[in-house]
Amino acid sequence: MKKIPLHWQILIALVLAIIFGLIFKTNYKLDSMTSESFKTEVESDVLDGLKSIENQSYPTQQAYRQAIVGITGEQTFKKNQSLFIKAAYHNPAVEAIHWIGEIFLKALRMIIIPLVMSSLISGVVSIGSGTNLGRLGFKTMFYYITTSLLAIITGLFFVNLIRPGVGADLNFSEVVDGLEVSQSSFKSILLDIVPSNIFKALTDSNMLAIIFFSLLFGYFITKVAEKYRKALEKAFNAIFEVIMKMTEFIILFTPLGVFALVAKVVADQDDLISLASRLGLYMLVVLLGLFIHFFISLPLIVRYLGKANPYKHLKNMATPLLTAFSTSSSAAAMPLTMDAVENKSGVSQKITNFTIPLGTTVNMDGTALYECVAVIFIAQAYGIDLSIGQQMIVILTSLLASIGAAAVPMAGLVMMTIILSAVGLPMEGIGLILAVDRILDMFRTSTNVWSDTCGAVVIAKSEGEKLQI
Ligand code: ASP
Repeated sequence: MKKIPLHWQILIALVLAIIFGLIFKTNYKLDSMTSESFKTEVESDVLDGLKSIENQSYPTQQAYRQAIVGITGEQTFKKNQSLFIKAAYHNPAVEAIHWIGEIFLKALRMIIIPLVMSSLISGVVSIGSGTNLGRLGFKTMFYYITTSLLAIITGLFFVNLIRPGVGADLNFSEVVDGLEVSQSSFKSILLDIVPSNIFKALTDSNMLAIIFFSLLFGYFITKVAEKYRKALEKAFNAIFEVIMKMTEFIILFTPLGVFALVAKVVADQDDLISLASRLGLYMLVVLLGLFIHFFISLPLIVRYLGKANPYKHLKNMATPLLTAFSTSSSAAAMPLTMDAVENKSGVSQKITNFTIPLGTTVNMDGTALYECVAVIFIAQAYGIDLSIGQQMIVILTSLLASIGAAAVPMAGLVMMTIILSAVGLPMEGIGLILAVDRILDMFRTSTNVWSDTCGAVVIAKSEGEKLQI
């Protein structure tokens, strides 16, 4: 029997996951055991109030939230939000399969750091001289910054044209957990690029620091005596080859992982139709901007700068793009991205190893566009007019936020706190867009990965490489 190509398997898994998620929707229900467990967190009269909704099933988080707020009051609810929501989460069908997705994600995450290090080090060593490295580094950074700016400007155009925030209902603002923790500044992000302890950077998955160390390490391998250089070059190439073999093995499980992950996202998603009535325009602007950047701007760049066929390239990238979409993590998709860029579109190992790990961490066009649209949406919703100067700050900080954002789910949302404080907008604004962030994350992550792969093509071409597209 002819084997179904992997990207078709993933697509089928996606469709099945959507059907599964729609059939087994998550609901929210407190039972006597769980409400008892709040004893230490809430007053006894609130606890009595909670008894009145025991065993009542709420079809959406929003409905459950409203019921609880009615009993506990806004303050108590906000304080214990995640506890209340976790305790009432009810979806046995999704819980039965979710572990598959967790294991799949863990397996991908397991190989990310060794892959980033070995590929960057062997990439830099094979680039060879400092001049070549400088030229490639410059071109790569230039591509990342220009495409991210282009994405931001696309978003800025639509958010100013459609003005989705005007008249938005501020009553629906949700509390975002862990917002205080995330309020690191750009300054600290920049300072953290140089790690004081590389092992700590590794255990914290501080990717910018790991990249910095790997680039430096690779560069100085080329500066040591030949016998050491050869030994290290061989060793890192060998590690890289082994990790790629592990990647190929993990890739085989992608359809299963995608099924489990997406089924949960669909099942947990609050009623999109009702959300659409208040956040529909905002979603439309983000998706429209991403669509234009994904299907028009980047393909034009591949066509005219990369002198390659963008649609053939897109087809080759189906597996990493669908994985990025399903996991909402460019880092999780990275092993698959490297595999596809090199083995399907024919970019050399040298350029792939240099550009993809770097791009995964630094180049996030989708996130950049989303940051800009979301921040301006929040300003519009609060009726705050941003001056041209403030809009310029939004552009610049969106770019920095996209560079600093980790390649993991919802990292963009966390970075937004920094932009909001830079232009003096209320932090609570994030609560307005929280309900649809998980869905939008899927689209912006795919755009992030797509841009990385287009960058690899453009840079390979500029280095005179012959591609398969
Ligand atoms: N999830 C995105 C990524 O991994 C980052 C973001 O939240 O925007 O690329």
